[in-house]
Amino acid sequence: MDTGVKRPAVFLDRDGVLTEENSYITSLEQMKIFPYAEESIRKIRQKGYYTIVITNQSGVARGLFTEETLQEMNDYLMKQTNVDAIFYCPHHPDGKVEKYSKACKCRKPGTGMFEAACREYAIDMQKSYMVGDRAGDIIAGQSAGVRTILLESGYGTNRLEKEVTPDEIIQDLHDVAEYLPDVSGDYKLRK
Ligand SMILES: [Zn+2]
Repeated sequence: MDTGVKRPAVFLDRDGVLTEENSYITSLEQMKIFPYAEESIRKIRQKGYYTIVITNQSGVARGLFTEETLQEMNDYLMKQTNVDAIFYCPHHPDGKVEKYSKACKCRKPGTGMFEAACREYAIDMQKSYMVGDRAGDIIAGQSAGVRTILLESGYGTNRLEKEVTPDEIIQDLHDVAEYLPDVSGDYKLRK
C-alpha cells in the first residue's frame, strides 16, 4: 500500500532475519521461515513502517540456483509474511554465470538496493532501520544513513566477519517489532 505519503522503512535482510540461516538456500523446500515472521511483519507495518527485504543472493552468480528459482522463493516469502517488497542482488564479482558476474553497487555493503527502494517508495530514511545478522548489513545501513539493528537469530554476534557498531543488538525479529517506536500517527494523509 503506497499512499504516496512519506513513511519510514524497516529494511530487512532475509536469511537469519525472516528465514533460518542455512549458508546457501538453493530451493524453496530449504527455505524455513521463522514461525514469528508473519506476526512480526504485521506489527511493524501497524507501527507505520514499510517492510522491505534487501538481500544478497550471490548463489545466482555462483550457479547454485537460477534467478527464476529465487523469484519463486520471493513470491512465497511475500505471501507468507506480507512484506511490502523484496529487492535482491544476484551478482558476485567472482561468479560462474557470466550474466551475473560483476562488481555492482547493489551487493551489500553497497547501498544500491536502498536507492532502488527509495525510487519506488516514498521513504523517510532518517527514521528508517536496517535489520540484519551480518557485518555487511550493518555497514550497508550505516552507509545508507539509517539506524542499524544487529540480530542474534542468524549467524550470531560472535561470528561477525568484521567489528561493527550497530545502534542496537536484539535477539530476533519478534523483539524488533516490540522495540520499534510507533510512528503510525506521525504520517497522516493531508487532506
Ligand atoms: Zn548486485
